[in-house]
Amino acid sequence: MKVRFVDLAAQYRETEKEISRLNDALIQRSDYILGQDVRYFEESFASYIGCRYAIGVNSGTDALFLGLLSLGVGRGDEVIVPAYTYIASAFAVTYTGARPVFADIDEATFNIDPQTIERVITKRTKAIMPVHLYGQAADMDPIRKIARKHGLRIIEDTAQAHGAQYRGRKAGSIGDIGAFSFYPTKNLGAFGDAGLIATNSKQLYQKLKKLRDYGRISKYVHGSIGFNSRLDSVQAVFLNAKLRHLDVWNQKRIGVAEMYDKYLGDIPGIRLPRVAGYGKHVYHIYAIRVKNRDKVLEGLISAGISAAVHYPVPLHLQPVYRHLGYRRGDFPVAERVCRDVLCLPIHPHITKKQIIYVAQTLKRLVKHV
Ligand SMILES: *Cc1c(COP(=O)(O)O)cnc(C)c1O
Repeated sequence: MKVRFVDLAAQYRETEKEISRLNDALIQRSDYILGQDVRYFEESFASYIGCRYAIGVNSGTDALFLGLLSLGVGRGDEVIVPAYTYIASAFAVTYTGARPVFADIDEATFNIDPQTIERVITKRTKAIMPVHLYGQAADMDPIRKIARKHGLRIIEDTAQAHGAQYRGRKAGSIGDIGAFSFYPTKNLGAFGDAGLIATNSKQLYQKLKKLRDYGRISKYVHGSIGFNSRLDSVQAVFLNAKLRHLDVWNQKRIGVAEMYDKYLGDIPGIRLPRVAGYGKHVYHIYAIRVKNRDKVLEGLISAGISAAVHYPVPLHLQPVYRHLGYRRGDFPVAERVCRDVLCLPIHPHITKKQIIYVAQTLKRLVKHV
């Protein structure tokens, strides 16, 4: 049996009619750049996550980068980033000229451990970037408390957590800035690269509108350096059509996770993902931990199951960041997780048969490798 990691074609089949209708209308109007579909998506997404403003941009990485710039982060500054996340979280800091400073993660949630943040704050620290990894919110209350105490800003990397909740609030609406990616495989995905920045601050909103569009004051008058980082109307069409399905699709992911929990729960040698009591996990990724991870992964792949490792190398040990001077052992939890994490296929259209097949194959592999 083949089990895919994601199934984008199945998402398309569910939204095809709506996409065709909106796409035809877009082509007739031809407002391809910052047209009415973009405005409509920004309003809908802002209201979905409960934020006043949203600015569509061309990727999640740019959402983080421009978000940091809008907060005034630049050369000489430091931004605290978890040691365990996708590289883009730290790259966005590096692009601004600032330095990413890593902190360890919490073993239960894979998210930045608030207790490790305060230790790495210096005079140069400007912001904290919690990443809501795998679809589960980071523990925001203690992070906000630390930020308040030290006068730091918060930018939430929400690329993996569209619709996730923290104490009743949506991830990405809690800090100064929420940065979203709509890379096709995310819980809400475009048909190419796309991203969005959310904020409740009118001042940041106005800065960000200029940053994504050449620092424009009017058509050919430019008051500051800006970039070409606009969300395409054609991406907004797909996002408008899919946003209506997001809650149902997230609910299906939760259902899949519950089945995995049930079928894998009594297998010795498998540690299941944990849901913190403070919120709603939307399972962008279902991550278990196993011994002999690489062997188990190999076995799954040869059985036709597209499992994956997100992520095998923590950021402080990435070759690109060698100059920052970190060493093995600096962030023991992140390093442990990199060694034994294993991500199973999870998406809204996976079938019960497939889930059972994954569970049975895993059970056999964990016993024998
Ligand atoms: C996907 C992702 C990004 C980058 O988003 P892009 O749209 O691919 O630029 C950033 N951070 C995390 C945690 C991600 O998963």
